[in-house]
Parts: sequence; C-alpha cells; structure tokens
Amino acid sequence: MCGIVAYIGGRTAEPLLIEGLKRLEYRGYDSAGIATIEGGALRVARSVGRVSELEERLHEAGGFAGSLGIAHTRWATHGGVNEANCHPHRDDRNGIAMVHNGIIENYASLRTYLEEKGHTFSSETDTEVLAMLIGELYEDDLERAVKAALREVTGAYAIAVICEKEPGTLVVARKGSPLMVGVGNGEYVVASDASAIVAHTSQAFPLADYNVVRITREGFRTSTIDDTPVTPKISQLELDLEQIEIGTFSHFMQKEIFEQPKVLATTLRGRIDRNEGRVVLGGLANFSKELVKARRFILTAQGTALHSAMIGEYLLEDLAKISAEVEFGSEFRYRNPIIEENTVVVGVSQSGETADTLSAVIEAKDRGALALGVVNVVGSTMARETDAGVYLRVGPEIGVASTKAFTGQVMVLTMLALYMARRRFMSPDVCARCLTQLEAVPDKIARALETNDRVRQVTERYVDRDNWLFLGRGYNYPTALEGALKLKEISYIHAEGMPAAEMKHGPIALIDDGMPAVFIANQGRQYEKVMSNIAEVRSRGGHVIAVATEGDTEIAKVAEEVLYIPECEEFLSPMLAVVPLQLMAYHAAVLRGHDVDKPRNLAKSVTVE
Ligand code: GLU
Repeated sequence: MCGIVAYIGGRTAEPLLIEGLKRLEYRGYDSAGIATIEGGALRVARSVGRVSELEERLHEAGGFAGSLGIAHTRWATHGGVNEANCHPHRDDRNGIAMVHNGIIENYASLRTYLEEKGHTFSSETDTEVLAMLIGELYEDDLERAVKAALREVTGAYAIAVICEKEPGTLVVARKGSPLMVGVGNGEYVVASDASAIVAHTSQAFPLADYNVVRITREGFRTSTIDDTPVTPKISQLELDLEQIEIGTFSHFMQKEIFEQPKVLATTLRGRIDRNEGRVVLGGLANFSKELVKARRFILTAQGTALHSAMIGEYLLEDLAKISAEVEFGSEFRYRNPIIEENTVVVGVSQSGETADTLSAVIEAKDRGALALGVVNVVGSTMARETDAGVYLRVGPEIGVASTKAFTGQVMVLTMLALYMARRRFMSPDVCARCLTQLEAVPDKIARALETNDRVRQVTERYVDRDNWLFLGRGYNYPTALEGALKLKEISYIHAEGMPAAEMKHGPIALIDDGMPAVFIANQGRQYEKVMSNIAEVRSRGGHVIAVATEGDTEIAKVAEEVLYIPECEEFLSPMLAVVPLQLMAYHAAVLRGHDVDKPRNLAKSVTVE
C-alpha cells in the first residue's frame, strides 16, 4: 500500500525515483508524484493513474534535474483520486514538499488550527495538513520542524520531506508505516521496502517507530522525535534483483503460482530432522519452555493470511491437541480481548506490516501473551515487534493476489503444529511419518500444477458467470474461502466461500443454472458428506466443478468438471487443493481482460487500519 522513494546523492534523482516507484507498483496505488530540488527551487509533477503516465509528463516537461528528490505512489485514504490530492504536498510559505504513507488521524483539528493561522489548503488530504504544519513550525531547520510537527500528530506515517531552503537535506521519519534507508557510496535511497533499494545498494536499515533520519550527501543521523540519538543497525538485504524480476512469465502472480514447489522446498529446508522425528524451528528456540506450557493459541490475520490462520487452527487442534482460535486482527484489537496465562498469539502476515494484524499482536503481547510472527518479509515490523517467529522464506511476493505466501504460511503453521505436538505427546516415529508426508508436498504441488491447461478450459466455460460458490469441509473450508477471495480479487467476479454443510442453511436458494459451485472434494473424513452436498446442488440444476483426489472415478459421475490433485494426508490437502483454485482465478482474470498484477482498488500490504 502506497510507495515512497527518496534519493540524495551524486546522481540525477528523477530516473532513479521513477525506477523505484515502478518497483513499488505492486504494492497498489491510484496516483503518483515526484518532487526534486533543481537549482535551489522545487519542481513537482503529479498525475492520476500509472507511474508510466507520470513518466510521460516528466518527459514532456524535459525531465527534472537535481540530485535530491522524493516520490510517491498514493493509495487514497482521505480525499478522492484526483491530481490535487496526489503527493507530494507542499506548505504555502517555505518551499517544503512531503510524501506520506499512512493516516494523520487528528488532521481535522490541525487543519482548523492552521486555517485560523491563515494557511490555505489545496487538497482534501490529511497529508497536506502535516506538510503545512511542518511549514508553520519551520524557522531555519527542517529536521527540527519535522520533529516538532510529528509531536503534534496522532496516527500512522512514513514521510520523506525536502525544503528549498535546505537543498542538500532529506528528512525521513516513521511511525506505524514501513520505511527503510539504503546506505550506498555517497548516496542514500529511502523506500517503503527493499525492492526499490536493492538495485543501488545491499546495505540498509529499517526505521523504528518515532525515528527521524536527517540525511545529507556526507552522512546521516538518526534520533527520535524527542531528540534522543539512535544508532541504527545497518545490515545486508536478503533480496536479489532476480527475485523481483518477472522472467519469462506474463504476470508475477503466474510466476509465483508456478514457483511454489521450489520455494516451499526452501521453507522446509533445514527445519526437518527425520532421524529424530522432530521439527527444528530456530526462531522459536529461546521460547521452547513457554511453548510447552501454552494452553491456548490465538491466530490473528486478515485476508488470505486469515485463511491460512484458519487452517492453522485446525492443525493445532487436530495434530497438537491444543486449543486454538482465529481472529481478524481488526476485530480482536478493539474488543477488549481476554488473555489468560500461557496464551500464545500468532500474527500471520506476508509483509509483516499489516496494520490490523500488527496492532492485534501488540495488544495481546501487552496483555501478557507470548507473541509469535509468521512472516515473509525479513526484518519487517512484525518480525521485530514479536518475541519470536518463523519466516516463510518464499521470496518476495509481488503479485497483489497472494499465492505462494498462502501455501508458505500453511506450511509453516503445519510445522508449528507438529513442533507443538511433538513437545506435548507425539512420538518421534509418528512425527517422522508426518514429516515424510510434509516433505513430499512440494513435488505434489508440482503435479497439481499440471492441471493448468484443464483449469483454463474449465474456467473458459464458466467465465461469463457473475456469481460463484466455493464449498469445502474441515481443513478445506478455509481453502474454499481462499478460492472465493482469489476470484474476487483479480477477476472482480462475486464469489462466496462457506462450509459445504452451511449451503443448505440458506445459500442453496441461490443455486441455479447461472451459478457454478466449486467443491473441494478430496479424499478424507468428510468425503461422503461432501458428495451429498454435491448431489444437492446437482439436483437443483447447479453446475459443479470438483477438486478431487487422483484416481477418484466416482466423483466424475456426479460433478460436471473434475480437477485432480495428488493423493495426500488430509491435514496437508489445503496446500494442494488451493493450487487449481489459484489457477482458476488467474485464468478468469486474464480471460476477462484484467490487469492481474494490479487489481483495481487493492493494495498489497495494507499498512493502514
Ligand atoms: N492518507 C494519505 C492520502 O490519502 C496517504 C495515503 C497513502 O498512504 O498513500 O493521501
């Protein structure tokens, strides 16, 4: 969600900033803008739409010179999507320009205060209020003015600020929204995430909340908004350029669906000790005593991660026999939750920056829970704020519709459940058998991906239908929810997921010739029951597409279309069953002519509550 890039150094900032914005496009945005300081004066260009449109404008203007600049892709929260609301925003007195990610919650009262002081606003945004406040407090030191202004605001921000009067200074700050400083040779690239930095330097540090960095070409200094000096820890970025290139694929989402076998093997690597029949999770090593004592797990997440967390709930109860429940971070956070002794809260988030999930985890931690993170992005806020955690190691996920992060999260939660089971009661032999099955999953996903052509044909047949149902039971009820979400996100087709049994408690009224029902009907404890639900749909004239286990010939007699996945233990089946559903959503979006990697209205990492 929203992208910030800022540059100070010896090179011309503009092309570098535009390239950085393109790298951040995947985060989701609706408009873009840039400001540089050229010959002591601000130059600003903004435009609604794609970064390429901003680039065209810059081209028409003959390009911007200057080696200090800030740039932004906006995901509107306050004020419509129009040019006046695009960032950078300026103050009206001192030649200050600022880009911002987040929400200034007390913007209304600050705006009234500033209007009374005679300032005039040209946008409806909360951001412009902060830019104006910095201008109001500016005397002769940008860093000081930024700090003074930030002491007055509530809400979340990552900001980058420049000022005509200090043409060699860049000031950046953060609270709640991610920001990272890349340290190069005589130059600095600041960005919302590492993907916009890695082409220039591999040395970087993330900003902590309430930290402000003043950067010149000669060096930088970090302190809090209250002026306490901070020494940041610069480290090597664990990302290389190749991982964020699209390669031979048409879309990042497609690339990420197809790389699942490879990246999930990495998720497992070094974490399975089959001889001892145990899972080795280095990130949890310091908390093994607390985990043995755990009586209750709360898994908290949003979106796709919520669906993997739901599978985690089934896994923890089924395999480790420990009480577990799943909560939307956004709901949990604000309902005065009860945290008893020996509660473990697990935040699941691809980016590790999901604001709703983060605040839920912090709330639970403050109330005494042990906080774990199941996160993909190394060094992200969730990774830093939790007591311990397990990384997904699936590589950067650029496609807005999450695919490999979902299977990665399920894989990690499966390992967590087996880790807990083994510590509680499971014998090494039983655990070793489970681990053998788990290790076979990447290859089985590769086989499930062979359904690609068949999935495309089936999708083509139904792609004109505007309403779909996704149904499953047990472990694959969350998979059904995930299938529906994927279809909604990138094809804009209305889809609902639910437990297969729930259908006859109301939604069955919707079944007719126009509504395909996708059933996850793999072999397992509830197979017969799912078959009955399929029959209920068929006898009402509905169309059934079934995801079933290879070798199941019975199902072909009742379902019109069958997509086969390899046979596996039931507890591992979501990682296989979701594959044809990911492919279905992908093909539906392509067939409907949508931009798969830039779905309308969506942001990749949702950094506002
Ligand atoms: N709240 C600001 C706006 O609506 C910033 C949004 C963003 O993070 O892109 O302009």
